[in-house]
Amino acid sequence: MDFLTAAATVIKSIRIQDVLDMMIIAAMIFALLMWFKTRASRFVLIGILLLGGVYLLARFFQLYLTLIVLQGFFAILLFVLVVIFQEDLRGFFERLAMLGNLRREVRPLSEMEKAARIIAETAGNLAKKRIGALIVIAGSDPLDRHLTGGIALDGRLSEPLLASIFDPHSMGHDGAVVIKNGRVALFGCHLPLSVNIAQHGNIGLRHTAALGLTERSDALCIVVSEERGTISVADRETLTVVPGASALNEILEKYDIRYQPAPRKRPLWGWLRENTKEKVIALALACMLWVAFGYQRDIVRRDFLVPIEYKNAPQTWRIDEPQLTEVKVVLQGPEQAFRLFNERSLRLSLDLSAVAEKKREFVLTKDMVNAPSSLTVADISPGKIRVYASRLVAATVPVHVATRNRPPDSLVVQRITLSPTAVRVLVDPRLNPEELVLETEPVDLQNVSSSLTTLLSVVPVAGVTFPEGKAPQVRVTVRVKHH
Ligand code: ATP
Ligand code: MG
Repeated sequence: MDFLTAAATVIKSIRIQDVLDMMIIAAMIFALLMWFKTRASRFVLIGILLLGGVYLLARFFQLYLTLIVLQGFFAILLFVLVVIFQEDLRGFFERLAMLGNLRREVRPLSEMEKAARIIAETAGNLAKKRIGALIVIAGSDPLDRHLTGGIALDGRLSEPLLASIFDPHSMGHDGAVVIKNGRVALFGCHLPLSVNIAQHGNIGLRHTAALGLTERSDALCIVVSEERGTISVADRETLTVVPGASALNEILEKYDIRYQPAPRKRPLWGWLRENTKEKVIALALACMLWVAFGYQRDIVRRDFLVPIEYKNAPQTWRIDEPQLTEVKVVLQGPEQAFRLFNERSLRLSLDLSAVAEKKREFVLTKDMVNAPSSLTVADISPGKIRVYASRLVAATVPVHVATRNRPPDSLVVQRITLSPTAVRVLVDPRLNPEELVLETEPVDLQNVSSSLTTLLSVVPVAGVTFPEGKAPQVRVTVRVKHH
């Protein structure tokens, strides 16, 4: 009963994100299962699963040495697997990238039948004449990566065309013809050679090349032997001799049908029914993983020291140096939410615009803290802040031209004038504006060689702010006379 109520709380707390989480993992497990299903790499999977089992046992019984060795081994294993399955991984990502446009163009069956007949008849005739030929029929895998030296043609498929290409007197008879979507895409292609031909006995290069391509892709290769006058078909790593043109025709039609969507089956329903076992396993594994790692509904509370950001201070007010720069904020929420969140971005922003309305005491509220939506602010301490501020007094303060050094001996400074002679400023009320004099940036008299006029900034001093935000400039004229 306890278990049931626990399960019920788990199920009740599942959010949309969790479902998505599980679906993505399930899809990944499913892809992996399908990959292992179609490849000889199933043995590798079994090996890895066994090792994984040993690892879990070792963890359970605290077998220290075994754990260390296995952990090291898994790290190496990853690299080894990448190297072993380089080709498969490449193919997998290729397919992922081309998802959607990777399906072969679907042409009417009658057209496919016609193409199959042309190819079969050509092969039959070439075999009778003992003319060697190699024809590749592209499946859904991209082939470009495996082909070298092909000459692009993109021609309509016909028996005379194929016969001309394979005519030993023609320049392009060497190599393979590639047929894609019922058209002769390329000729004179060089195919990769098979590496495991031991079981096929003594076969030549043409046959080895046909096998080689079918090991790397889902293409179908037809080989007409020059020496023996036989027709062979290479498909999925196997090479079979075909008795004649009509048998080849049948094989080709079946191959085409592989890429024909079954017309009556509704696509979604068909997809649901395919590979049901793998889907169920993937889903179950994903749920288990989620319960083991993802599910975490315990609410935790954590304290953070959060900096206060004072903002919108009114311009005509002086805010005293704040006494408080940090507050303690208690956040609460699920453990995962804390794991995904960056505490350094946490701030409490205090809007000081109300200072102008003589407000001095600010209550700190939860909405001032920029906590993520998955976490709630449980407490802030202290709960309020006092701000000391005083209104600045507007005043007009005289400006005095500062000078530096003495003029050269040959010169006498007659007069220094400036305009304007006073500037408007905002003054701290504790200062007496009557007593204030501001200075310009100094004029260096040593460098003066003749009378001059220049713009100089007023130098800011403590307790005085400029209404425009930046220091105003005054026009300074220095008159000099030669001795
Ligand atoms: P056959 O039974 O016709 O003699 P074979 O399998 O014995 O075929 P080879 O005699 O070794 O093959 O080679 C004959 C031709 O195969 C070459 O002239 C060339 O046109 C073609 N060929 C050889 N290697 C490749 C390759 N890697 N890709 C495409 N075609 C090839
Ligand atoms: Mg040969």
